[in-house]
Amino acid sequence: MLMLDLSKDDLKKLIKLQEIDSKIIKLELKLRELPEEIKRFEEIAQTRRNKIAHIDEKIEELSQRRKELERIINESYKKIEESKKKKAQAKNLDDYKEAIKLKAEAEKNIIKATKEIEKILAKLNQLFREREKMEISVAEFERKISKKEEEIKKTQSMLEKKLQELGGLREQLISEISPEIVEFYEEKKYEFGGNVFVPVYNKTCTGCSMQVPSAQYAKLLRGEGLVYCPNCGRILFIEKISRD
Ligand SMILES: [Zn+2]
Repeated sequence: MLMLDLSKDDLKKLIKLQEIDSKIIKLELKLRELPEEIKRFEEIAQTRRNKIAHIDEKIEELSQRRKELERIINESYKKIEESKKKKAQAKNLDDYKEAIKLKAEAEKNIIKATKEIEKILAKLNQLFREREKMEISVAEFERKISKKEEEIKKTQSMLEKKLQELGGLREQLISEISPEIVEFYEEKKYEFGGNVFVPVYNKTCTGCSMQVPSAQYAKLLRGEGLVYCPNCGRILFIEKISRD
């Protein structure tokens, strides 16, 4: 283990540096997370738009079928007119029967087609209502997205400003600490996930939750040199040292 000659003043500065770094990490994480919220809204809006496209397809299909049925009805009416002529011009019973049959068939087709059109109209009505609901929902999400985008822009510039401030503070602090100590800190920072210097509460290392042995604890209280946690290797300090 590297032993450094760390003064109380150095320790205070390093603890401060560690605090700044932890704030920087949190801010950077927050900055990365901000666009995620918009992504979620956009996904919902897209699902709704897809649903509208699907409804439009169904509407188109049903409208085509309706036209087809209207054509069948028109033709059936023509056939009824034809049957009337045939009936009038009938030369024998077979012609007469044929005319009656033609009329009956045409009438049957008109009734069938009319019933189907009624069903289609009801279905179309329902689809138009669903479509309207979806459009309102999409518009709502689009509003939410642009509102969120504005919020995010504001938050982003605020966070970036804070980051800049912290970066300045960091540089200032580093300039006041000897380079080899900074290097030591930077190396340990990755090893310990940002927590190189940890306070001791109730004689317990807050880095690993293990009890600090009495000898080390006494050394800490006396404020003599660096005290490492024998369990996790982090550098221990008593809260008041960093404050006074
Ligand atoms: Zn520990």
